[in-house]
Amino acid sequence: MAGAEEMAGERARMVERQLVARDIRDERVLEAMGTIPREAFLSEVDRGRAYADAAVGIDAGQTISQPYMVARMTELLAIRPGERVLELGTGSGYQAAVLATLGAEVLSLERHPELARQARARLDDLGLGERVRIQVADGSLGDRASGPYDGIIVTAAAPAVPQELRDQLAEGGRLVIPVGARDLQTLLLVERHGSDWIETPHGGCIFVPLIGPGGFPE
Ligand code: SAH
Repeated sequence: MAGAEEMAGERARMVERQLVARDIRDERVLEAMGTIPREAFLSEVDRGRAYADAAVGIDAGQTISQPYMVARMTELLAIRPGERVLELGTGSGYQAAVLATLGAEVLSLERHPELARQARARLDDLGLGERVRIQVADGSLGDRASGPYDGIIVTAAAPAVPQELRDQLAEGGRLVIPVGARDLQTLLLVERHGSDWIETPHGGCIFVPLIGPGGFPE
């Protein structure tokens, strides 16, 4: 396995070439992703690909998103310290780590118990555990009991924006969600203003499916 120094170099290059050189402008996002050891969220055999410009496989047939996509979604979510964020699809826990580093109070839902367990351990190891609550659950319709949320980030693809998620946004809240077909989606930002939800598209993307009543059938 590569040493910590080598990984730090790769991390800095990832931030420059994959984030700054494209259109990621939010300094706090760049700083968080320049600090968090992404390799800690992968199994040992995959650590060499931690800073690849691609999604990487994790357990249970799932993926950790491409760094650029994590940055883009986080930037769109525009989180301020202390805000409450719901993440659907904990996966490796990396996105939750980025949100916690920005000062968010995160509730993250994951349907695979094994992934939830691993993510919990990694976040605790990195000292980010206190800001992140992970629950094993079908989160495809959110979690109304713990809402409303200043931000909702869905890191799996849905066929449409579930109304339940719109309803769980606080006033001024933002929802970032990939919407479309199983094999190709559009990244949508949905902002709530009273009973208006303003949607803006932010390019194409490919995510694993969100499974359940608010997503796709298994
Ligand atoms: N954010 C993750 C990537 C998630 S991949 C990271 O940073 O690594 C998408 C995840 O969504 C998978 O782990 C998958 O198991 C989970 N998922 C899919 N449908 C779900 C549902 N209905 N509720 C909770 N998690 C779900």
